[in-house]
Amino acid sequence: MLSLDELVAIRRDFHQHPELAGEEKRSQKVLLEWLERLGIEAKPLAGTGVVGLIRGAADGPCIMLRADMDALPVTDEKDVEYRSRQAGCMHACGHDAHMAILLGAASALVDAPPSAGSVKLVFQPAEEQGAGAKAMIESGVLEDPKVDVAIALHVWSPMPAGRAVARPGSIMASVDSFSMRVRGRSTHAARPEEGCDPIPVAAGIITAAQTLVSRKVAPYERAVLSFTSIHAGTAFNVIPETVEMKGTIRAQKSSVRKMLTEHLGQQAQHLAASMEASMELSWSERLPVLENDADLIKLARDQAGALELSDMEPLMVGEDFALFAERIPAAMLILGAGPKDPEKIIPHHHPRFDIDESVLPQGARWLADCAQVYLQG
Ligand SMILES: [Zn+2]
Ligand SMILES: [Zn+2]
Repeated sequence: MLSLDELVAIRRDFHQHPELAGEEKRSQKVLLEWLERLGIEAKPLAGTGVVGLIRGAADGPCIMLRADMDALPVTDEKDVEYRSRQAGCMHACGHDAHMAILLGAASALVDAPPSAGSVKLVFQPAEEQGAGAKAMIESGVLEDPKVDVAIALHVWSPMPAGRAVARPGSIMASVDSFSMRVRGRSTHAARPEEGCDPIPVAAGIITAAQTLVSRKVAPYERAVLSFTSIHAGTAFNVIPETVEMKGTIRAQKSSVRKMLTEHLGQQAQHLAASMEASMELSWSERLPVLENDADLIKLARDQAGALELSDMEPLMVGEDFALFAERIPAAMLILGAGPKDPEKIIPHHHPRFDIDESVLPQGARWLADCAQVYLQG
């Protein structure tokens, strides 16, 4: 397997040359070169993605190992020589580490190839936009050979290095983002009776929506509804025609997700109608709940080696790996990569985000062992 020094060098190279979602051209080139050097057949897929294949001597099932590739529009504020060389672009979520870890796992699997079946190495672009997994699936990444199960790993800075989580059931939330337009009738601010002011209507919709999670969702379930943007009007003396709002709903169960998305629309519709306004609602980003398969999680827990397995509350963020998990049994493993001292934790997506690089070989070994054991049946 690639050594700690080699994995650190690979990670730092990606860290210095981050690329935003959909623009991962250099990362793609570097990955293809590495896979070629390791003697692994590989090709570009879905624009800037990469897929490699390690075949065993005999036929058998196929396990997919997935890393994401994209960075974030954040300017790196770390004072280290490997900081991002690109202003306004930074690996602030650890996807640089994911690429290095998957190359490490690939090198371990080349050293000890599976006797049967195959391992598909999937480097997926554009995770942060929730677009990459969809594009990879549409480009046929789950076919030829047909993928039976998938495992991904996310480094996690709020958890110290040396610890990990492999949790059955939901691990990350569904993501639904909405745009809502409340339409009234514009008029002079001093003559409201001649129009229909959409601003109090929007205020009523926002206030009423606060009761959806608190009154419609059972207290033992997890869900969140946030309005994150509101815009209306241009002048102090004009009642505007419309109010535009944006927001998001997250849930840990598809039934809760369905109920909340339906109720938000119905409630807003009724409120607007009761005040003689109208309401249009449209949904954009949509990801299902990420559900970990119990059998795969058991396998991963058995292969955790020296990692100390901990528990963790499921996260309310989303991950587009959920689109793979919706189609085949899958597991998202969490690898602690943060400092021991909780005061020193820097969260993901922060301009000074970094990881403890000693976790790179741990992650690589964990993924490779999971694939080996799965293929041994
Ligand atoms: Zn992220
Ligand atoms: Zn991430």
